[in-house]
Amino acid sequence: MKDDMTNKPESYWKEKLTPEQYHILREQGTESPYKNEYYLNKAEGMYTCGACEHPLFSSDTKFESGSGWPSFYDPVNRENVELIEDNAHGMSRTEVRCKNCGSHLGHVFNDGPTPTGQRYCINSCSLKFKAKEN
Ligand code: FE
Repeated sequence: MKDDMTNKPESYWKEKLTPEQYHILREQGTESPYKNEYYLNKAEGMYTCGACEHPLFSSDTKFESGSGWPSFYDPVNRENVELIEDNAHGMSRTEVRCKNCGSHLGHVFNDGPTPTGQRYCINSCSLKFKAKEN
């Protein structure tokens, strides 16, 4: 990837991100359900990585999951995310990371809607929404 940021030192992210963003994006944290910025956002646009602003999810694939977190049934491009087996906290889950900078986004589950059956459950804090320009 031409703007690969996976080799940036943690000090770079610590300076660039807020403490909450840093905890979630760089320390695999999880924000509170429901009370987060994009859970109920219905505007059209692109959700980019909250750390490196690489495009990740289009509003076209966002759906109401009832989980309390923004949910998407597909990334804008599957090359833009990295899926990693996550056995932390006594659960077997699949972690989703930004492929461009390695930051933690959330998890993906197999109980999503058609057409993919996938549910990308993503922290608002890991995203930066860019509204579509008319
Ligand atoms: Fe990123």
